Amino acid sequence: MGHGLSCSRSSYEHEFFTAVQSGNIELVELALRRDPEIVYQTTIYDRLSAVHVAAANGRLEVLSRILDQSGNPDLLNRHKQTPLMLAAMHGKIACVQRLLQAGANILMFDSLHGRTCLHYAAYYGHSDCLQAILAAAHFSPVTDSWGFARFVNVRDDNGATPLHLAARHRRPNCVHILLENGALSCASTGGYGCPGSTPLHLAARGGCLDCVRELLMWGADRLQRDSSGRIPYMIALKRNHGTCAALLNPSSAGPLVWPSPLKFISELEPEAKLLLEAALMEANREREKNILKGTTHSVQSPTHSDDGINDNVSETSDSELCCICFDQVCTIEVQHCGHQMCANCILALCCQNKPNPTTMCVAAPLCPFCRSDIARLVVVKIKIPEEGGKDTPSKLRRARRSRNLSEGSNSFKGLSALGSFRKMAGRGSGLKADSSDTTDKP
Ligand SMILES: [Zn+2]
Ligand SMILES: [Zn+2]
Repeated sequence: MGHGLSCSRSSYEHEFFTAVQSGNIELVELALRRDPEIVYQTTIYDRLSAVHVAAANGRLEVLSRILDQSGNPDLLNRHKQTPLMLAAMHGKIACVQRLLQAGANILMFDSLHGRTCLHYAAYYGHSDCLQAILAAAHFSPVTDSWGFARFVNVRDDNGATPLHLAARHRRPNCVHILLENGALSCASTGGYGCPGSTPLHLAARGGCLDCVRELLMWGADRLQRDSSGRIPYMIALKRNHGTCAALLNPSSAGPLVWPSPLKFISELEPEAKLLLEAALMEANREREKNILKGTTHSVQSPTHSDDGINDNVSETSDSELCCICFDQVCTIEVQHCGHQMCANCILALCCQNKPNPTTMCVAAPLCPFCRSDIARLVVVKIKIPEEGGKDTPSKLRRARRSRNLSEGSNSFKGLSALGSFRKMAGRGSGLKADSSDTTDKP
């Protein structure tokens, strides 16, 4: 789709549009002083306004100047596209932000396919523009009238949501952002792609492994059929996307799904969320490895030997070990009752109850130690051992070294790396307490 300056009405208008396109602010100023009405002129064929041309070409300074003069960010071209759609299409984030700031309407539909600016950002894979539009949507009148969730899942004339377009066109970052903002992974299209396609069908067709991963992690159904009765697996096979097909094969182990319907999961503090996300990705990577090897019992590589891990763990004091798996370090604490476990175990606990398919509600897990309701999860805070001065500096050093070692081992990576980071650096008092503890004891 070109946004050229096909045939302006006069040579002086043509000069104005050329100046806008190339971002020549002096010439634009000159033209505006000579004829203020020129901001309302459009090119003859595409009926592009100067706002469109500036936005599509990322000319922020010119765009600002023209918006100040005309005050209307929502002019329409021949295809009823707004300047915001063109800026999102071309990934001109500064212009997207400027237009949003000028109050551009985020819920306009073009006449080509009935798409919104959100569709444009997703289709062309400009995740920064997508993010900016979604952020603006929270404060837009659209949210009052439509609701945010409905806006995220807005459909074009063929029933395609922004998530369908992002999945089809291999845009994993956009897929991730949309899912995080409540895009429905199970929505089926009307006529877009093959009728009845879900985002997973379209990702399978596009052969984008990261899109498939993201969708599965957010609960996309491998068994959902399109109107021709095909599951995504069959589409990936037909298109020769072997790796995608392996993950989509309903007989292969399903991935852990992010337990987003749980209230305390949606309210996680960022640090705890990072830990759980890392645990989920780690667990899914392990499953993936096994699936791609074509076996359920993988032969362990030398870099992934249990012996090495156990050596490290045996040096860590028992109080830090998760009492469920006796393998990982406790990183997550259930607030109120104070029971601790590792990120893997809390995640397994949250994922074991399958959501009810009609209500998408998941029964919240109970604390496995005291059976009380889990209302909130927090990251475990560092504890300095205080067993009657028994801890010599050398013992502490050893415990510390073992934590460092554990960062290098495979199954600890991510999880305990974050945990130790927190322990070593997060609590500034760590080092000081370490030395004073042993000398100041009575
Ligand atoms: Zn555990
Ligand atoms: Zn408890």
